[in-house]
Amino acid sequence: MIPRFGRDRRVGAPTTRVVGPIRRRDQREEHHTKAATGGLGPVVQERWTSESVDPLRRIFFPETRPQNVPHRSWRNVADGPVNPERVEVRNAARMTEIVKGVATWLGANLVGVCALDQAFVFTHHGLRIDFHKGRAGQPVDLPHRYAISMAIEMEPENLRNSPSFVDGAAVGKAYMESSKLAVHLAAYIRELGWPAKAHAFINEDVLHVPIAVTAGLGELARNGSLITRRYGPRVRLSTVTTDLPLVPDRPVDLGVQALCSMCDKCAANCPAQAIPFGPKTVSNGIERWQVDNDKCMTYWVANRARFNDCARCIATCPWNVPDSGWNRLLTWGIPRSRWWRRAFLWLDDRRRGRKPNPPQEWLYYKIPGDRTNWTIPRVID
Ligand code: SF4
Ligand code: SF4
Repeated sequence: MIPRFGRDRRVGAPTTRVVGPIRRRDQREEHHTKAATGGLGPVVQERWTSESVDPLRRIFFPETRPQNVPHRSWRNVADGPVNPERVEVRNAARMTEIVKGVATWLGANLVGVCALDQAFVFTHHGLRIDFHKGRAGQPVDLPHRYAISMAIEMEPENLRNSPSFVDGAAVGKAYMESSKLAVHLAAYIRELGWPAKAHAFINEDVLHVPIAVTAGLGELARNGSLITRRYGPRVRLSTVTTDLPLVPDRPVDLGVQALCSMCDKCAANCPAQAIPFGPKTVSNGIERWQVDNDKCMTYWVANRARFNDCARCIATCPWNVPDSGWNRLLTWGIPRSRWWRRAFLWLDDRRRGRKPNPPQEWLYYKIPGDRTNWTIPRVID
């Protein structure tokens, strides 16, 4: 049992301030759809829609043989029939405890609830590999009242070596686990007699990160990821939307805004220079550090012969360390003291360096001399 070292500080509103009207996003304008339809250039389009050289990538991402991507079939059960025998909910707080208990039992590392804000629902479906073929351009209609946000931890060991095929495997596995979790929780709620829909891994109607922030799982960081207290940015998210009566959680202040203001390790280590240095700017009514998603995606998709994708901004973040009593003690002080934050960053520089990328071999993946030219062996001997 890891000691908690205090509860997360709950606050009245997300620490990323809303300073103007938020325009609902259209998934067709997102970088995945642009990559698939040529908006990021012919090289990215060709690589994005062709087969990866890595067989582990091919069991998670459907490009050539979708039947070898088992969790692809979960798209068909993201929504479904609602049991006509509805369980009456007289105590929403107790119902919330039960739903969180079921989500945790199914595998969620973190669970939170918020009211579903339509600002975080896409206006239209985009094109995400093969998942939304035939649905691109259709309007999204999601009138549910609540969103249940869930986080799955990615393996710290395999995620460390990024970009490579090894961190790509950790990302794919966490996507698979988060999809499994979301479809099962949504099905459970429908069996209670209430509408529910799972949103996960390239099959979603919602923006997971702002929902997770509102539901109190963590804060939006400079690198565009959610930083959570226990796992830092090393999580993948899924969401279940529903009308089941629930009690929303409050957002948290973990000190991420103050820490990211003093730190630029992700920006300094981003091979695509997609993460901004300096202060926040206002983007779509929200004060935040705006990552250039087009640059990010262009970089790793264009290099897919050498690695699957990139998670370097997650791997190098000082908060990306295994969950432990020591780490919870260190992160407890981050929202409380400027000197504590300085010490936290100083310690990470001493322990892992300014460019952390410790060598690591796994299965038949060998570390190349320059640590970037990964190849998949054609012969196992
Ligand atoms: S995933 Fe890689 S390329 Fe994209 S923002 Fe992070 S570090 Fe930069
Ligand atoms: S590396 Fe530093 S600036 Fe970037 S997300 Fe992590 S704490 Fe924030």
